[in-house]
Amino acid sequence: MSQKFRVFSTADIGESLNVLRQRGYDVEVYPQPEAPPKKLILDKVKSGIDGLITTLRDQIDAEVFEAGKGTLKVVAQIAVGFDNINRADANRYKIPFTHTADVLTEATAEFAFFMLGALARRMWTAEHLTRENKWGYWHPYLPFLGDEVTGKTIAIIGTGRIGLAMMKKCSGFDMDILCYDPAYQNHDYVKGIQEIMNLRHDRGMTRERNYIKYVSLEEALKEADFVSVHVPLLREGESSTPTYHLINEKTLRMMKPTAFLANTSRGPVVDEHALAHALKENWIAGAALDVYEKEPLPADSPLRDPAIEDRCRLYPHFASAARITRLSTDPNKGMAGRTVQGLIDVLENNYGGDITRMPYVVNKEAFQKS
Ligand code: NAD
Repeated sequence: MSQKFRVFSTADIGESLNVLRQRGYDVEVYPQPEAPPKKLILDKVKSGIDGLITTLRDQIDAEVFEAGKGTLKVVAQIAVGFDNINRADANRYKIPFTHTADVLTEATAEFAFFMLGALARRMWTAEHLTRENKWGYWHPYLPFLGDEVTGKTIAIIGTGRIGLAMMKKCSGFDMDILCYDPAYQNHDYVKGIQEIMNLRHDRGMTRERNYIKYVSLEEALKEADFVSVHVPLLREGESSTPTYHLINEKTLRMMKPTAFLANTSRGPVVDEHALAHALKENWIAGAALDVYEKEPLPADSPLRDPAIEDRCRLYPHFASAARITRLSTDPNKGMAGRTVQGLIDVLENNYGGDITRMPYVVNKEAFQKS
């Protein structure tokens, strides 16, 4: 490598940064755990860095790309979601940006599943009972019961990478699966899950023969005992199937009063005011959230209302927060490793310098030869 590249990372992503240093890169890391102010990112970009490593907390838009005009060559994001990066602006300035799809798929899906299980079986309330020394007796139904997950029906909203992984996990719990995705339907995968369901039934492992099928959003919401959301955040104008407030008063009212909702996608996909209302008035039985309209969750959020505490589980954007998934330096295992590899691919002209062939670049359309 003849050129010494300069990189600024808006967060410490661990050992993987040493991979860059070992290659002779000059790497500067924002040392605080909070996101840096936008002004600092602009200053770093203006100072002539070649690569910028970002998290979902950083707003990357025309202002940043303008600041890096002629010098900034790549933005590498440590996340699969990239709603904080303005794709149209990146394309206009012809700056490729990368993400970390796939390596967090299984971790996110299992967390979504665990969230639903913990919610339905009331694990948080049960532990509080024990810890607060309020467990006075064993009784068939007092002081409360939970609801089983096994054998129930789940709606998977969004059948991309994480939605498909979620189906696989749910099929292991003898669940019937309703799938909804207006833009991408993987009938082959669904057929494979049905074959596994059939085999498990034929071998006497399940009492009922489970089913999986694509349905409309309305049918999915009306029929499901559990609803799990796995869509990207797409605002009006960004897609023909926007997901902003996909879960709102109207769609919440379609769900059964006994049904549970999980959201590990992005906060603005759920209208939080409508959800708090739904929980308070028991339109649905409960919700488990990992992501919020505003993060970190504000102190005055209606989701913190003590009146809904027993049926509203709140997690700190934690679904991918598992050791190997977050920090492995192996680009086939860890988000950090994949972030660094995406950055190297662009800066070192891997794949013959053809950005459209680089696996972790998102906005390939900006580099298509016409
Ligand atoms: P993906 O692109 O593979 O899948 C998303 C699916 O949603 C696609 O199949 C798409 O067609 C579908 N979709 C788009 N609009 C829709 C609509 N209106 N209704 C229903 N489906 C729609 O993405 P992925 O890798 O599965 O990740 C999904 C999202 O999960 C990411 O964009 C990210 O925001 C979020 N995520 C969160 C965490 C976390 O820590 N909580 C971790 C990983 C991913």
